[in-house]
Amino acid sequence: MRTGGRFRYGGNMSEVKALFDPQSLVRANIRRMKPYSSARSEFNGKAEVFLDANENAFGSPAGGGYNRYPDPLQTELKVRAAEPLCVSPSQIFIGNGSDEVIDLLFRIFCEPGADDVIICPPTYGMYKVTAEINDIGVKEVSLTENFQLDLPAILNAITLRTKLIFICSPNNPTGNLMDEDAILEIARCFRGIVVIDEAYVHFADRPSFAGKLNTAPNLVVIQTFSKAWGMAGLRVGLAIANEPFINLLNRVKPPYNVSGIAQRAAVGALEKRDVIDAWIAELLSERDRLVKELEALDIVRKIYPTDANFVLAKFVDSTSIYRHLLDGGIVVRDRSGVELCEGCLRITVGTKAENDRLINALFSFTNEMAATL
Ligand code: PMP
Repeated sequence: MRTGGRFRYGGNMSEVKALFDPQSLVRANIRRMKPYSSARSEFNGKAEVFLDANENAFGSPAGGGYNRYPDPLQTELKVRAAEPLCVSPSQIFIGNGSDEVIDLLFRIFCEPGADDVIICPPTYGMYKVTAEINDIGVKEVSLTENFQLDLPAILNAITLRTKLIFICSPNNPTGNLMDEDAILEIARCFRGIVVIDEAYVHFADRPSFAGKLNTAPNLVVIQTFSKAWGMAGLRVGLAIANEPFINLLNRVKPPYNVSGIAQRAAVGALEKRDVIDAWIAELLSERDRLVKELEALDIVRKIYPTDANFVLAKFVDSTSIYRHLLDGGIVVRDRSGVELCEGCLRITVGTKAENDRLINALFSFTNEMAATL
């Protein structure tokens, strides 16, 4: 299936399935190493006296049983998280935020100074930063003008040294979902790993790619509790993938990578799905309202379609508007320096009161501008 050092993009799914094996992509040192065995992973049965982990037996000044190490494999959280995703708990890895998952994927699969990954800018900045930290080459295949994947260019950029392709859907900072068929085509043609970052999927009208793990076994889906689940401060992220991937992630992660507080809070959040659903519904209606209000402003050149909890908008003078908003105590994300996003600000949808305040500040800027003409 190779032509001239590049992957040809023909073939069929059964062929890909038969040939795909994440083990063969793992760095030799990771394959050779013996993972750390923590006290809690060596013994996790019932006992009365725990003298195995050098903890403080007296307690914690903060109470809460924090003197004890948390479950290193986050068993209860995985059981609870698996159900709504329709996967098995063994297909879930929990990270210290999804940023940890991204970093671990580099460390497992990418040989520093030799391998590369493909990213599709404008996209989430940490893919490139993490690649650079790990001394991994980055091939940037820009999105098309309408912020979709450039399928032929991506397939053409793949070489034998390409280990990961990052696809963010809905994409940050553009907000849109990537075409599903294009993603599946990439997964079908690529012998490496396709990472689909679904940080914002809960706001989109499309099911998770976690439902495609059987037909596209080289997918690693990333989700997070930081967005719709409202727990950015606790640092809980997920990888959803077939078991061989999860086993590899468990091999390299720090022993107690997710705190006990975070695990319990995430379990608690999963029991309150109705609260999250109501917030999502409110957010989507606020997003529609915000888009309509923005459309009415002369200072707005373009509002890009969004499937996320933010809106990317092109303004006539984004730098002055950014400063005007800051003067009014409102901070948005200035993306004007980002490829294909010239003149754009990324605005997170807030509460009704926050959105009103933003709209009023933009109105006042429009009026001030009109007065100077
Ligand atoms: N992926 C995307 C697309 C993001 O926008 C973010 C955070 N802004 C992350 C991952 C990281 O999320 P976490 O808080 O789970 O580390």
